[in-house]
Amino acid sequence: MNARLDEKLEPIFQDVLHRNPGETEYHQAVHEVLETLGPVLVKYSEFADKKIIQRICEPERQIIFRVPWQDDSGEIQINRAFRVEFNSALGPYKGGMRFHPSVYLGIIKFLGFEQIFKNALTGLPIGGGKGGSDFDPKGKSDDEVMRFCQSLMTELYRHIGEYTDVPAGDIGVGGREIGYLFGQYKRITNRYESGVLTGKGLGWGGSLARKEATGYGTVFFTHEMLKARGDSLDGKRVVVSGSGNVAIYAIAKAHELGAKVIACSDSAGIIVDEDGINVETLKRLKEVERRRIKAYLEYHPKAKYTEHGNIWTVPCDIALPCATQNELNGNDAKTLVENGCIAVAEGANMPTTPEGIQLFQDAGLMYGPGKAANAGGVATSGLEMQQNASRDSWTFDYTQKRLEEIMIEIHKSCYETSVEFGAEGDYVLGANTTGFIRVAKAMNAMGVI
Ligand code: NDP
Repeated sequence: MNARLDEKLEPIFQDVLHRNPGETEYHQAVHEVLETLGPVLVKYSEFADKKIIQRICEPERQIIFRVPWQDDSGEIQINRAFRVEFNSALGPYKGGMRFHPSVYLGIIKFLGFEQIFKNALTGLPIGGGKGGSDFDPKGKSDDEVMRFCQSLMTELYRHIGEYTDVPAGDIGVGGREIGYLFGQYKRITNRYESGVLTGKGLGWGGSLARKEATGYGTVFFTHEMLKARGDSLDGKRVVVSGSGNVAIYAIAKAHELGAKVIACSDSAGIIVDEDGINVETLKRLKEVERRRIKAYLEYHPKAKYTEHGNIWTVPCDIALPCATQNELNGNDAKTLVENGCIAVAEGANMPTTPEGIQLFQDAGLMYGPGKAANAGGVATSGLEMQQNASRDSWTFDYTQKRLEEIMIEIHKSCYETSVEFGAEGDYVLGANTTGFIRVAKAMNAMGVI
């Protein structure tokens, strides 16, 4: 944590440290938001009087439970799962489920906390929450994933619902997992409650363009940042970390808007393809065959693979971190700046460390934080909920248009807020402040709850 906090905010942060020991990612996420809220408390003194920040930092409800399941050899496995229902001032809790061995309460809390402000930025009536498990889907059979999802939902079902809490996907949770989770929810409750989960398959309540939404939205946001400086994506060299759901569709949209994405990665290595990353190959490898990125070479032998390489050393105009938290540190930020990078937009949640953010801001780069830049995913989940509620399904083009409009609006409100608070173009301040004020006003109106 580098930047100092306002004297009113420092004790609140100390309390968060004290109440949530060892949850370093959560501390980082809270600190980053508090850094920007000093001027807000000057303008809205009632938020301080009513202890809105202290209340926001304490989740409304946290659920931790055991998930026992049997693997293919008959052995019993035990995982731990979480659902943190953080804030419901604006609507039902909404946020994804993450399946990854690194998951623990501190990760789910950081994600849930960020989700509150991100969801507020979308302008849709959704609160913030997040969940997940330390289950590792890698190397598991479809049957094992199904049994795990069914066991998880056997507990989770009692805590969720279309007006209560609406989970979706995140790292390790895609269409396959949402299918198993929805099937078990339906079976236990005997209700076809489409709006209880988003990211569903097309044909059983899913929305066209949801799969593409986070990656597309990140690129729409990048495009808006460039436009605000009289520039565009046309002809830009782009590097995208990751090769999962967000990365694949960020690459696809960047190509569509005239940029060339020359590198992507997974946790084992990086691929550089100067001809431009082939999206169809990526989809086949990652969505169908579930293989490692190294296999890209089998289809494009001119590309280069580096085991455990650092993707941020690949010179580019635009960097889109789309893998995981803290994947881009101060040294990486320095390398990007030295190599002439002009814009960074976060498809992932909190991928840049505080040192990295500071470096980008000091260098005057366009920097779009995840809360704003990757809000297109949850926004389109909100659109999926709208379609479910009205028993309707929209076309791909219409849904994509709505997504684009929402991303343009998010950019506009972040930008205008940055101007209002005397920090033009500071999207961190813009996103945190805009999201916070919306939630705080609603909480204030609802009394002490
Ligand atoms: P996926 O599971 O589809 O893909 C994740 C990608 O990131 C994979 O390429 C994975 O590589 C890589 N990755 C994950 N963890 C690590 C790690 N510890 N080190 C290095 N690489 C890693 O997830 P998504 O694409 O859905 O999510 C990516 C990011 O976007 C996350 O931060 C998520 O929170 C955020 N996000 C996702 C949204 C969505 O709609 N899906 C919405 C908003 C944000 P490998 O396969 O080798 O593990």
